[in-house]
Amino acid sequence: MTIAATPAGSAMVPGAAPPILQLVGVRKAFGDFVAVDRIDLDIRDGEFLTIVGPSGSGKTTLLRMLAGMESPTSGDITLRGQRINELPSNRRPTCLVFQSLALFPHKSVGENIEFPLKVKRIAPPARRARALELLRMVRLPESHYGKNVMTCSGGERQRVALARALAYDPEILFFDEPLSALDYKLRKTMEKELKDLHRESGKTFVYITHSLEEAMVMSDRIGVMRDGRLVQVGTPEDIYTRPADKFVSEFVGEVNVVDAVRRDGVWSAEGIDGLRLVVPPALSAADKAAVVIRPEFLRFVSGPGGADNCLSGVVFNEYALGSRIQYQVRVGEKTFLLELSRASAWRGEAGAPATIGWDADDAIVVGA
Ligand code: ADP
Ligand code: MG
Repeated sequence: MTIAATPAGSAMVPGAAPPILQLVGVRKAFGDFVAVDRIDLDIRDGEFLTIVGPSGSGKTTLLRMLAGMESPTSGDITLRGQRINELPSNRRPTCLVFQSLALFPHKSVGENIEFPLKVKRIAPPARRARALELLRMVRLPESHYGKNVMTCSGGERQRVALARALAYDPEILFFDEPLSALDYKLRKTMEKELKDLHRESGKTFVYITHSLEEAMVMSDRIGVMRDGRLVQVGTPEDIYTRPADKFVSEFVGEVNVVDAVRRDGVWSAEGIDGLRLVVPPALSAADKAAVVIRPEFLRFVSGPGGADNCLSGVVFNEYALGSRIQYQVRVGEKTFLLELSRASAWRGEAGAPATIGWDADDAIVVGA
């Protein structure tokens, strides 16, 4: 089968810098239950890597092993070539930022940020100078230095926690869904700021979220987890345009999936009578596949012949999605989603028949 899938592997690019962290065959079992299995992954020095996956897919367990709060049942984790499977978290050059921030209550913003520096016995004037620098880095005014953290807003506390994590001067920062408790607007702002902070700090960020949208905004690379396995690792562009399988393509967003089968050299779509599917040439070796069509690649056509693949149906719903409009079109038993920009909205009425279509090259074909 010639369907392209990005390997979730750790193949070294010749001449590329050695990975800062390397995972080989990492597995974690709790009794009989395997939470994380067969993970091979190279984490590059200085990259922003995000692991996404549904709740329960093993993200936190994986991160806890990287941070030294759990050790793998089998497999190896190496840091710059040194095996660190059993090295406790306080002896690793890493720092974990949680959703629950674990700041010291009743202490000032400055005292919280300076805590790691105090532990290292850095003199008060140097501590203060560094704290002020970190405040600027996380976009908090210097006037917050003396403020009690309990009087800070959620977003401000998040920034204080970040500044404190940076004060440890770790080589790698781990984040476990740090923004999930924030409201939408603040989360969007913080996503962009985290990306800036990553660039300014030059550190390696390993970030966990169940939101692919969040991952897309911030990451250099994304790893997608499902049932303890890493099913794909790639750039946001790879994940979006070349999903490794149906699961990844559906995780990326609302999509249309047509199960395609070939009989006697002819492709047809399950559940859609009479459609002779035109598929991309890459598919010629297989006889079963899932054809994924994003709603923005489906369009209304004037009639048969208006696109490589045409279907007759009925438009039965339309939703305004801000600048875009989504239509639900029923074709036999199946519902297709089609999206248009508001400016080119369809002028028909709900309940009206319509022909929709897509060109073979606009579909993504993944293993069935
Ligand atoms: P995620 O962070 O992706 O939501 P987790 O890594 O927290 O997933 O959990 C993955 C699976 O492992 C879940 O089914 C969870 O119940 C299980 N699990 C996690 N920690 C333990 C533990 N200490 N003992 C038993 N099962 C656990
Ligand atoms: Mg989790």
